[in-house]
Amino acid sequence: MPALTDTATPALQLSPIVAGVWRMAEWDFDVGQRLQWIHQALELGIDSFDHADIYGDYRVESLFGEALAAEPGLREKIRIVSKCGIKLTSAQRPAHRIKSYDSSAEHVVASVENSLRALRTDRLDLLLIHRPDLLMDADALARCFEELKAAGKIVHVGVSNHSPSQLALLNARHRLATHQIELSPLHLAPLDDGTLDQCQALSMRPMIWSPLGGGRLFGEDDAHALQVREALAAVGERHGGASVASIAYAWLLRHPSRPWPITGSGRVQGLRDAVEALRIRLSAEEWYEIWQAGAQREVA
Ligand code: NAP
Repeated sequence: MPALTDTATPALQLSPIVAGVWRMAEWDFDVGQRLQWIHQALELGIDSFDHADIYGDYRVESLFGEALAAEPGLREKIRIVSKCGIKLTSAQRPAHRIKSYDSSAEHVVASVENSLRALRTDRLDLLLIHRPDLLMDADALARCFEELKAAGKIVHVGVSNHSPSQLALLNARHRLATHQIELSPLHLAPLDDGTLDQCQALSMRPMIWSPLGGGRLFGEDDAHALQVREALAAVGERHGGASVASIAYAWLLRHPSRPWPITGSGRVQGLRDAVEALRIRLSAEEWYEIWQAGAQREVA
């Protein structure tokens, strides 16, 4: 039976804001611009970058790896998160007949090897299982994690988009470092479906994806988003004219599970909006004011 706690690995550390690169292929940056963007993030105190094997149709890790290769030594200044477990139908992966999930050791090891090659690095600081595989064999996956850690290819492991019971099952076999979940004033479910309760119970800091609703927060023809935006703007007025985006990040950061929000922006100002939120502490009433606009109702 594998150990339930992993005392050999120090706790996961990420920068308070993590930069996500899901959309990097759309930013249309040349290698110099990618390198500059990484440096601008570092100057803002963001040293952790969130990848997945599938981002940009399996191409973003290579784009990022090219930038790392252009500056020897840069890799040691940053932390790299990546994910595996989703198999997309893609010209890059002709063997995939349908879209499916795979958490078998064979797939996880092959995916990690691919990510390391593409990113031009020898290790991932954090590997996440991207979506819950309904055929997950927790014992086999825990052994696979142990072997990858022993080989120095990954440092920490976690999951993303799992239910509390799915996370509990795997965490009982191998200590997980984080749960990466969607949360925003436009996506409130984790607040009361047990997901964030479990994070607190396990002292597991969650990572938050689509903190601005995937950009939906700024949609012009979306009445719900407009209501949330107005609530964020009103709170922003009370915090020195902070931007809508900064207040959305401050709303996430107010949660006691101590989340790590992941930005999605290719603009430096988009990163700055997130970092500025670190100095804003909302009152509980302000937090509920934003929740109310998101939920479109008062608390009971
Ligand atoms: P997001 O911040 O909710 O959305 C980013 C989008 O919002 C971008 O298109 C961005 O465009 C736009 N945006 C940001 N600020 C804006 C502003 N002030 N006005 C107008 N538009 C604005 O984050 P996300 O990209 O959906 O997700 C963030 C990261 O989470 C991803 O990069 C990825 O690493 C991770 N993720 C993980 C999962 C998972 O299943 N685990 C799923 C999705 C994402 P600009 O570039 O123009 O700013």
